Amino acid sequence: MTSNAPLVDQFQRRISYLRLSVTDRCDLRCAYCMPERQTFLPRAEVLSLEELHDMALGFIARGITKIRLTGGEPLVRRDMIELVQALGRKIGDGLEELTMTTNATRLAEFAEPIREAGVKRVNISLDTLDRDTFAKLARRDSLPQVLEGIAAARAAGLKVKINTVALKGINEAEIPELIAWAHSQQFEMTLIEVMPLGEVEEDRFDHYLPLSAMRERLEQSWTLTADDHRSGGPARYVTVAETGGRLGFITPLTNNFCDGCNRVRVTATGQLYACLGGNEQVDLRAALRSDNPGDALNAALDVAMKIKPERHHFVIDKPGSAPALARHMSMTGG
Ligand code: SAM
Ligand code: SF4
Repeated sequence: MTSNAPLVDQFQRRISYLRLSVTDRCDLRCAYCMPERQTFLPRAEVLSLEELHDMALGFIARGITKIRLTGGEPLVRRDMIELVQALGRKIGDGLEELTMTTNATRLAEFAEPIREAGVKRVNISLDTLDRDTFAKLARRDSLPQVLEGIAAARAAGLKVKINTVALKGINEAEIPELIAWAHSQQFEMTLIEVMPLGEVEEDRFDHYLPLSAMRERLEQSWTLTADDHRSGGPARYVTVAETGGRLGFITPLTNNFCDGCNRVRVTATGQLYACLGGNEQVDLRAALRSDNPGDALNAALDVAMKIKPERHHFVIDKPGSAPALARHMSMTGG
């Protein structure tokens, strides 16, 4: 017997937020995220547009009120706009918010259509404003397109949040400037610690920058005041008096944030990961491709609630540490 009851895990956390990866492909190759020669999934393994849509409806029926589309780079998927439009029609009918995380390379084209479809906010990943650093870090010389995409998002009236991974010796010195730039455009900004997900060419320990250290450094020249704003995610915020903007910190390594976890993640092949930092998974594609997809999906979601772990166990404590998990962030999305 399966139910249509809201999703509540064994630690009584109500799961209301789905991060849905629509592709593992990307037009950039950020060095901390994926190797240059990443092997992408065969297209046949990836959920079709109809499957993604049916699955999202199944989640909404179980009380998911917020969906963030991610990847890989969501906007490299050809039928992405159709999915955004279809899910946009559920806003106000079960779904409260539809958002996206993007690298912005294609936002110049898509900012307007996604806003028209009902998306109000986007998270844009930007680690540097320096073209050479960008080209080295993302292994593609795409900063001009990204800045054009960001400008298009702003012009379309999308609320923009900039997400920046803090990287020792790479963008560390530039972070105050990046924060000042984001705040001058009325963008919120969030700093993220690099997480040990998937093999990449470099040793992440070399670039791991604890945000506690970054915060102390910022406090030498700025006044940071704790702000009790919550975005429904793990970020903790401060207001910067000098810029008048809000700054978030996501600190999976220095400060565990699992108590209030309200989310699950699904990969482009329909694997539900109950935790970004764990291997507990349920195969939703098998459910969707079964003879009775509705019941099978509900049963799979019930299993997910039973296996969602209490917390993740990431550490980056010494050089040469193996990744905590074999899969890359581009599979489960950010
Ligand atoms: N391509 C889109 C983008 O970059 O915004 C969406 C997917 S990307 C995997 C989502 C976020 O994950 C980005 O902000 C990226 O910087 C972050 N990310 C990727 N690998 C990471 C890692 N190992 N540790 C921390 N953040 C990571
Ligand atoms: Fe692509 Fe985003 Fe990963 Fe960069 S962080 S390689 S843009 S998926």
